[in-house]
Amino acid sequence: MKEQNTKNKDFLSGPEILKEMNISWSGKMLEETADQYSKVSRVIPEIEWPFFAPYIKAINILKKDMNAVILAHNYQTPEIFHCISDIRGDSLQLAKEAGNVNADIILQCGVHFMAETSKLLNMDKTVLIPSMEAGCSLAESITGEDVRKIKKENPNIPVVTYVNTSAEVKAESDICCTSSNALDIVNSLESKEIIFLPDEYLAMNIAKETKKKIIMWKGRCEVHEEFTPEEIVEFRENEPGVKVIAHPECSPEVVAQSDFSGSTSAMINWVKDNQPKKVLMVTECSMSDNISVENPNVNFVRPCNLCPHMKTINLENILESLWNKKTEIKINPEIAIKAKQAIVKMIEL
Ligand code: SF4
Repeated sequence: MKEQNTKNKDFLSGPEILKEMNISWSGKMLEETADQYSKVSRVIPEIEWPFFAPYIKAINILKKDMNAVILAHNYQTPEIFHCISDIRGDSLQLAKEAGNVNADIILQCGVHFMAETSKLLNMDKTVLIPSMEAGCSLAESITGEDVRKIKKENPNIPVVTYVNTSAEVKAESDICCTSSNALDIVNSLESKEIIFLPDEYLAMNIAKETKKKIIMWKGRCEVHEEFTPEEIVEFRENEPGVKVIAHPECSPEVVAQSDFSGSTSAMINWVKDNQPKKVLMVTECSMSDNISVENPNVNFVRPCNLCPHMKTINLENILESLWNKKTEIKINPEIAIKAKQAIVKMIEL
């Protein structure tokens, strides 16, 4: 993507934009950005700040000039999460809150399906994503055609689709869900059988808590499937007293080893409310960095599994995305109407 863009004479790269805006690192900038640096100083060494600060300054100026709002998922890196974003949270919180903001442009610091969800709920706004390489192994595990086939094989059974899917897949579904409301959504439907797509582990975790029969798909999050129950046992042995909280995209065996399991937002709230001395967050590792800022008394034990898709977003391509208005999310209107219905149904439930 970047290669294509840089061949376009109208496209300016990050360093070119900084030059155009007359922004470069200086001792004065250290003072100007002191508040922002204090939020991330626990996780970003001072020596790296001169690289981040000019981009942070430029992005904050530009988003104001362009009446843009920046959404950052909980898995984004701390300089994005704390220094340039306006709305932070899980994918659904981001999309819902973006709808309440008086902005012309939404820039999504997250993966492609999140930007699509933002677009579905804000069709009148321009939605930008800084990297088209920001995919997701769950979203890519299933297509609209796959859903049509499953529905044909299992007629009259409602389809519940995790938000980590494309608009095309959502359009084939009866209702969406997130990891925080999946059980409630499944239980709210009258049918005794539910097709639950595409996350197999989330489906298995739900199946343990509902009386309904769950028909599953073999999608997996490539980050959460890496954690093993043996690893958790080992952490407990090496870190006595550690509290373990796991995302439900982990296997049921890993969830069974944890003290609490919930969505990223639920995990964050659990840490805030319980203030454990030591905690192991079994999820993407930027989460620990991001919430450590607001929980200085909690020691985060880090088994670090990075999401390679989330990590394709950085300050440089965010600045490029805003300046060049690239890359804009477009959704076929027919698909958008149906996909939006599945999301709105979930929100209204
Ligand atoms: S962490 Fe997993 S579910 Fe989230 S974007 Fe990355 S691959 Fe997808």
